[in-house]
Amino acid sequence: MTQEPKYKLASRQWKKNNTVVTAKDCQIGGDELLLIAGPCAVENEQQLDQIASFVSGLGIKFLRGGAYKPRTSPYNFQGLQKEGLELLKQASDRYNLGIVTEVMDLSLLDTVYPYTDIIQIGSRNMKNYHFLKELGKTDKPIMLKRGMDATVEEWLLAAEYLLLGGNDQVILCERGIRTFDTSNRNTLDVAGLALAKELSHLPVISDPSQATGNRNLIRATSLASIAAGADGLMIEVHNNPTDALSDGPQSLYLDQLQDMMPDLARIAAAMNKTFSWQKQPEIINA
Ligand code: PEP
Ligand code: MN
Repeated sequence: MTQEPKYKLASRQWKKNNTVVTAKDCQIGGDELLLIAGPCAVENEQQLDQIASFVSGLGIKFLRGGAYKPRTSPYNFQGLQKEGLELLKQASDRYNLGIVTEVMDLSLLDTVYPYTDIIQIGSRNMKNYHFLKELGKTDKPIMLKRGMDATVEEWLLAAEYLLLGGNDQVILCERGIRTFDTSNRNTLDVAGLALAKELSHLPVISDPSQATGNRNLIRATSLASIAAGADGLMIEVHNNPTDALSDGPQSLYLDQLQDMMPDLARIAAAMNKTFSWQKQPEIINA
């Protein structure tokens, strides 16, 4: 006899069919592979414009970019904050891109809400249960990052908080966990991703950038994630990664993102997912 899971609304036992989340006219968790790309942090107008222009030129529909950044050190760049949100809006309007950006705490919810199509809950906040309860009352899609120390069960219980609040537009995001092995920034839990797909009807995407911390590993881990059943990927890309104000070493160069696209399309096709993109004639790495 199968054991009852501790979560209910998030469980496949409760809802058999995949949940499809709609954001900016895109369906996430359906037939199409979602791709979200952009810088770790919004840094300035020129940076975001170059990246957004390139990303949209490739046919990607969602731009990521942190305006409020959860940095380990208070001495590191904390994000452009409100100005960053305005730059995201400008890029969204100019290139018709959906926006994914993080809400770091409740005091920022009203500020960030109008600027984002998908609310990102960061790994560090996955266990902030009061925050989850409040975000569950919102009516926008939410991407819930897996806590870096969270089991799959804890991750799904965190999703349960959002669902219980009434928001059923929840996307899970595997972003690597901390293990004994520090060779990579985190350990991408591909099996955990596959397990989350099996245990839950919610869409699951993968963030190979935070998982590896290393741009050389983004292609392999992206392909592995799709093969494991991911509904999408969120990838950090920068026009000038060596000078990036956060997460430069894991940020792809623009041409690297383009070079990966045929492989993504191949593995997506093998997994019965549609994925369309087009080649960019010109690449300007700043
Ligand atoms: C990020 O997406 O840049 C980020 C800070 O993610 P995480 O919360 O997974 O560390
Ligand atoms: Mn980052």
